[in-house]
Amino acid sequence: MQLIDGKALARKVENYVETEVEKLKQEKNIVPGLAVILVGDDPASHAYVKMKAKACEKVGFYSITHSMPETISQDEIIATIEMMNTNPRIDGILVQLPLPKHIDTTKILEVIDPKKDVDGFHAYNMGRLVTGLDSFVACTPLGIMKMFEEYQIDLQGKDVCVVGASNIVGKPMASLLLNANATVTITHIFTKDLKAHTSKADILVVGVGVPGLIKEDMVKEGAVVIDIGINRIADGSLVGDVDFKHVAPKCSFITPVPGGVGPMTIAMLLSNTLKSAKQRS
Ligand code: NAD
Repeated sequence: MQLIDGKALARKVENYVETEVEKLKQEKNIVPGLAVILVGDDPASHAYVKMKAKACEKVGFYSITHSMPETISQDEIIATIEMMNTNPRIDGILVQLPLPKHIDTTKILEVIDPKKDVDGFHAYNMGRLVTGLDSFVACTPLGIMKMFEEYQIDLQGKDVCVVGASNIVGKPMASLLLNANATVTITHIFTKDLKAHTSKADILVVGVGVPGLIKEDMVKEGAVVIDIGINRIADGSLVGDVDFKHVAPKCSFITPVPGGVGPMTIAMLLSNTLKSAKQRS
């Protein structure tokens, strides 16, 4: 069994981005810029935004965070996004999710200029991804594709089971895998017999938010297991959706939580913002 070291790979991506930023500055006088919109007081969202801002600073990006109160109106959020759409210093716009209940998330995401949609959540970019065209791709699945590439895990013709079908994780993940010629099964909360699907998979990608959902008897011997879940349990520690202790010995490759997919998500946000800044140049 080999651990997929997301932390080390994320550092490698960040070092590459940092070098490219330096070149962009020298050759074109461009500093990539990221605007983050943060609404409300959710501690996890605040922690993620802080990590993103720190990562931007480390690689030499310009970044700003628009923090807004929970009670802000939808129109005020839209006005801020429209301002960022036309701000020439901003290459990427990110709205930290989840948004408060009175806000229509789809509507908000669709206001972002698709050319600055570095989270890849806009329907325009999702549509381009499905049709196999170049687009901004959601950072978590994109980071997982980078892991497959780095560890030379071949996808063509493989049976891949994606557990979880959200717009930000499962669906873009399945599209990327399909575009890479894998045979993809997508499962979710209404799947009748989850184990029947997971236990056949050469590669299992799990992003549901249920600690320890995937048990040893649900995984094929020698499978590659990617655990996207981030769950804080009663003792305060972070665990994934896979029962790591019992599943890991059966795997050829597995990602740990923490230190697996999480760091790659931020690294790919930097990579997408750099891509947008290069397009500006
Ligand atoms: P979500 O709630 O939007 O979607 C969850 C999906 O899992 C749904 O499709 C649902 O049908 C499915 N599901 C739920 N319970 C299930 C079950 N018992 N069996 C099968 N399917 C089930 O969640 P999300 O935003 O996609 O996030 C999923 C997990 O991934 C969460 O733990 C989240 O914290 C984590 N996440 C991690 C990163 C990262 O960077 N590592 C990024 C995004 C999300």
